[in-house]
Amino acid sequence: MKIYNTLTRKVEEFIPYHKDSVKMYTCGPTVYHFAHIGNLRSYVFEDVLEKTLNYLGYQVTRCMNITDVGHLTSDSDSGEDKMLKGAKRENKTVMEIAEFYTEQFKKDIESLNMKWPEIVEKATSHIDTYIEIVEKLMEKGFAYESGGNVYFDTTKVEDYYQLTNHKVDEMVVGVREGVEEDSFKRNQADFALWFTKSKFEDQELKWDSPWGVGYPGWHIECSGISIQFLGEYLDIHCGGIDNIFPHHTNEIAQSEAYLGHKWCKYWVHGEHLNDSTGKMSKSKGEFLTIDLLKKKGYNPLSYRFMCLNASYRKVLTFSYEALSNAENAYTKLKNKISTLSEDGDFNQQDYDFYDRKFKEYIGDDLNTANAITLLYDLLKSDVSNTTKIKLIDMWDRVFSLDLLKTKDDKELEEEVKQKIKEREEAKQLKNYELADRIREELLGKGIKLIDTREGTIYEFVNKM
Ligand code: AMP
Ligand code: ZN
Repeated sequence: MKIYNTLTRKVEEFIPYHKDSVKMYTCGPTVYHFAHIGNLRSYVFEDVLEKTLNYLGYQVTRCMNITDVGHLTSDSDSGEDKMLKGAKRENKTVMEIAEFYTEQFKKDIESLNMKWPEIVEKATSHIDTYIEIVEKLMEKGFAYESGGNVYFDTTKVEDYYQLTNHKVDEMVVGVREGVEEDSFKRNQADFALWFTKSKFEDQELKWDSPWGVGYPGWHIECSGISIQFLGEYLDIHCGGIDNIFPHHTNEIAQSEAYLGHKWCKYWVHGEHLNDSTGKMSKSKGEFLTIDLLKKKGYNPLSYRFMCLNASYRKVLTFSYEALSNAENAYTKLKNKISTLSEDGDFNQQDYDFYDRKFKEYIGDDLNTANAITLLYDLLKSDVSNTTKIKLIDMWDRVFSLDLLKTKDDKELEEEVKQKIKEREEAKQLKNYELADRIREELLGKGIKLIDTREGTIYEFVNKM
């Protein structure tokens, strides 16, 4: 597998620390508002990366944070806490806002057929971890207290700008973008690890710390959660390109200073989705969400299809015309596949020939556009339908475009999900009789429910 590494600015052979078990961290959403479809483009590319790794035989442990504290309106530690801003906007508490938008985000993830990462952790659940890291950074001389806050001293690390290709001037401008200088910092590039003093005294969530009651900076949460759940050696860290600086730059500085060795091998970033005015925004222009696309009659998977037809490393510009074109092409593709009846013998040679090509494309820095072209080639070919169906079934583990699902399958899926929800509610109300009845009813239809730590899943069994 080859992948572009922002750290080396090269497409590299992927050689993880952990051989077949890959540790992958992806920066999660700040749950102060709905995700826009630009945010979701980043998650689609990360989903494709995880599924590609699986397809190529790697076992992946993926962790994602939910930012519910510490992310200020400017990424460089100034402005109001985004969560607090969301809470004020809606006259709710920060906790209510976090819960509501985390649920919405889950729905978006489902609508786009993404896999919910195995480990998802809220920033507010790991304050002790951040405090421990900050204490160690202070001990080692990488951090200092000033004006009531704790800052990381960026001059203490050897190569602070390694991820940004040393475009120091640009980065310093980035730091100052729309921001008044923080006179407590020794160097303007320094960043906050812990706040006890900010201009916003009405911060809702605060915790005790050796430096006083306060709250963590945004960057420390990803280092803390990643190290706690994936260990000291991380294979892949992802995010959108805006995360390169300052967020990921700061994550590298503090993690490596804390650990005393190199931390993450591959930094993989997805390019942005823009709208006609340029950068996509939650506050200006039309706020493009999955719900809005649904309301306008689009299938969210047409948007996924649109993303897969472009390289994750190229800017994609959204327009309704482009989305309509994607929806037409996607519908036609599905219709064509639905006409394949399972006839002809399975041919292993044909299967291997096409599957090898598929692996070559997706393993070539996630060239999903070529993989989709290969799918069209396969459909046009004289390969037997049985072989085609088997290939499409396998490839859809990466595409996740429901290529073989009919409308009936989708409806059944919705029905089962609804029943699972009703059963959960019944269990919460301690109505175990109803919960059991729902389980039996589904089993009678050949659907077996399995309760796991992450929730209830189901599988088809022979009807009883
Ligand atoms: P946030 O919720 O603001 O922390 O952002 C969540 C993810 O979306 C991060 O990985 C960002 O890098 C990414 N992101 C933000 N804007 C865009 C965009 N226009 N296109 C693609 N990804 C984006
Ligand atoms: Zn992060």
